[in-house]
Amino acid sequence: MADTLFSRIIRREIQADIVFEDETCLAFRDINPQAPVHILIIPKTPLTRLTDAGEQDAGLLGKLLLAANRIATEQGIADAFRIVVNNGAGAGQSVFHLHLHLLGGRSFTWPPG
Ligand code: AMP
Repeated sequence: MADTLFSRIIRREIQADIVFEDETCLAFRDINPQAPVHILIIPKTPLTRLTDAGEQDAGLLGKLLLAANRIATEQGIADAFRIVVNNGAGAGQSVFHLHLHLLGGRSFTWPPG
């Protein structure tokens, strides 16, 4: 997988507002927030996008969701939040290191844009 700016954030080469970290994942505030709370949750191991995940990544994907749960609680948005994964450029993915967008603190419409 090509090096991305998220890998550089993991290596602390680029500064980010980190809100959570464990051995598996890192979470930091989106630089261009689309909601009052907008946090990106990324695996520390490289995965380009969701469709590159396989059976061997089942535990990792679960941990990302559980991290989202925990962060939502810590950020006070556990009652209402949205998780978005943009998979592929056509879906709006711009950084090719898998990430969950955790959004909250406002109301959301459906369907998403
Ligand atoms: P996506 O478009 O789904 O690939 O999401 C990439 C996200 O990364 C966007 O919401 C950007 O605002 C965010 N982003 C880009 N550069 C940074 C950065 N240096 N720190 C935090 N978030 C960033």
